Amino acid sequence: MEIRVAPLPAEQKKQKATDETALGFGRLFTDRMLVAEWKVGQGWVDARIEPYAPFSLDPACAVFHYAQEIFEGLKAYKWSDGSIALFRPEMNARRFNHSAERLCMPEVPEDLFVGGIEQLVALERDWIPASEGTSLYIRPTMIAVEPVLGVKPSDHYYFYVILSPVGAYYAAGFNPVKIMVEDTYVRAVPGGTGEAKTGGNYASSLKAGLEAKKKGFDQVLWLDGVHRRYIEEVGAMNMLFAYGKTIVTSPLTGTILNGITRDSVLKLAASRGYTIEERLIDVNDLMADIRAGKVTEAFGSGTAAVVSPVGILAYKDESVTVGDGGVGPITRELYDALTGIQTGRIPDTF
Ligand code: PMP
Repeated sequence: MEIRVAPLPAEQKKQKATDETALGFGRLFTDRMLVAEWKVGQGWVDARIEPYAPFSLDPACAVFHYAQEIFEGLKAYKWSDGSIALFRPEMNARRFNHSAERLCMPEVPEDLFVGGIEQLVALERDWIPASEGTSLYIRPTMIAVEPVLGVKPSDHYYFYVILSPVGAYYAAGFNPVKIMVEDTYVRAVPGGTGEAKTGGNYASSLKAGLEAKKKGFDQVLWLDGVHRRYIEEVGAMNMLFAYGKTIVTSPLTGTILNGITRDSVLKLAASRGYTIEERLIDVNDLMADIRAGKVTEAFGSGTAAVVSPVGILAYKDESVTVGDGGVGPITRELYDALTGIQTGRIPDTF
């Protein structure tokens, strides 16, 4: 699909950060964005890359009332030879369209999603930070913009992509996090929207996250919404547990996000000789196995952190330390391998 590129007037160019260690996450955006519109009877029209600017939207737009919206998250890296690499963007395109189907939104053709991102990132290449651990975070989004208060699928959508240079996730070191198993609130139920990357899932998770922070934890680990017993996922990460050389993770039952990092970690670990088990994990068994030292490592996987070691897990009134509470060798191996592939230091062989 043809994407028109509008001129970027010199006065609309923003100041770039001079200190890449102070970038943080998702606060600074580049000069341009990609926008395309879908209208009933016409399909996708008017794809353009234009100066980054606020939208002017009718307050009645469906997205503001009924949260008909989906998004994605992926990263571009600048390699030491100057080339730019996206990590598995076609998987984000596929997941985006899976979310679109669940939210009754139109599919975005892969050439618009991936091709549009590639074109936008190429134009904004000077914004990609180069220091260790930094990257350009890419946020594709679709919102329903028909101004009508009836509850129905919209007849008009914006698909847009914005870019944000982000700092190193582990600026303070590759340190383990403290996770609290959530036993009051639930994130998803069978038949719900848990597998879709839609804003409502995140809005409804805020309260649990806030309460966990107050108790001194970094994030919550969700249990399944029916039995309140099986491990699902963390806020923005899938969870994996090492039992020696076996890596165990929850199956994709439709209530958790099909993480692209999860998929990569599993394939990578299998290629390096680890045994992979995708099976239901009963929280009571997990706590007992951690206590007994059978679970040697626990870690999350997600685009932002790539791999995040978990040092402490708490459930009800008990807090257990995984292994010795530090970063285990498998966690470090998989983190080094995956970040090595993403940044071009290691060939992509899985
Ligand atoms: N679960 C949830 C709820 C998430 O928001 C994310 C982040 N996208 C993940 C898991 C990890 O997915 P990915 O590896 O594709 O970033």
